[in-house]
Amino acid sequence: MSEQHAAQPRWGADYVQAISPYVGGKPIAEVARQFGLQPERIVKLASNENPLGMAPRAREAMLAAVSDSTRYPDNDGYALKQALAARLGVPATWITLGHGSSDLLEMAARALLTDADAGMYARYSFIVYTQAVQGVGATHQVVPDRDFGHDLPAMLAAITPQTKLIFVANPNNPTGSFLPADALHAFLRQVPPHIAVVLDEAYMEYIEPGLRYDSLAWVREFPNLIVSRTFSKAYGLAGLRIGYGVSQPPLTDVLNRVRSAFNTSTVGQAAALAALDDADFIAQAYAVNRAGQAQFAVAFDALGLRYLPSQGNFVLVKVGDDAGAGARVNLALLQRGVIARPVDNYGLSEWLRISIGTESENAVCIAALRAHFAES
Ligand SMILES: *Cc1c(COP(=O)(O)O)cnc(C)c1O
Repeated sequence: MSEQHAAQPRWGADYVQAISPYVGGKPIAEVARQFGLQPERIVKLASNENPLGMAPRAREAMLAAVSDSTRYPDNDGYALKQALAARLGVPATWITLGHGSSDLLEMAARALLTDADAGMYARYSFIVYTQAVQGVGATHQVVPDRDFGHDLPAMLAAITPQTKLIFVANPNNPTGSFLPADALHAFLRQVPPHIAVVLDEAYMEYIEPGLRYDSLAWVREFPNLIVSRTFSKAYGLAGLRIGYGVSQPPLTDVLNRVRSAFNTSTVGQAAALAALDDADFIAQAYAVNRAGQAQFAVAFDALGLRYLPSQGNFVLVKVGDDAGAGARVNLALLQRGVIARPVDNYGLSEWLRISIGTESENAVCIAALRAHFAES
């Protein structure tokens, strides 16, 4: 019998068939199996996670919430939204919770785009934007980068009557590029008010103090702005899948209409609530990241490797001049127990993205790079 039933239909619309499934950083257990390595000795610098783990009080709250998980979570996330509102100085009705902030990005696309519309984002920006736009069958408006970052004037110039949603990541992943506040604010002023802008601030905690800005003031100023943030990165809660968006009530209302029922878990809500006020933990994550950035910069300079300035907790480094370079060096690192992130799916096949780890994790990665380049 043939494996495929003769009458097997082609499932899904063409635009669904055209979606490229998201590829995450390789899990430690998988690399251990594949390369015959001890899991404890593997260093994962692939997914921009916090190398310090999570804040102790988040862990306690999470464990306490486990026993409540027989019941459905609070669908409205009352306690977490109240705490966020107090912390951010916006009404709770301006907040939308997501299972990770990726959920917010998807919600924005589902709520605001149809297959007759277009969603815009920059070349070399977060791959979930591509997926969110593709997931609703909308047209992609991919605007060429400027020095690996967003070219805001070019994005304004690319707006058409079909454009309904624009994604901007600041800092940007995977390049680490950063848009200064005045440029972003000028951009927001020029985007027509019927076009929504998602300002994705997944890495905002890692921005240098002198460059920080008050994007929530912009949410008050611009009814078409959604600011999205996450507990996955600096807060160290990536596995719990929790993030949020802030926007004025009419936009928040449509986001919540397309939000999946019970999209955030009891455990995630509890941990986020507990983590929220742990400023010391965030300060420590910031300091470790800055030190690690400097550690990698010294090593890359010594190896003669080009890398991009980054305001995130990762760095994009050029590991060769040919299209196979990223894959080759990635494999060499994997064989030495270091998981970095190939970015060929972003069109950056000569580069690798390396998340900043602890000093000792970074040292393992640097030693592996040195060993590889010494051999090749
Ligand atoms: C990691 C990341 C996110 C958030 O991911 P979640 O875990 O879904 O919150 C959002 N945007 C960018 C640019 C990211 O790199």
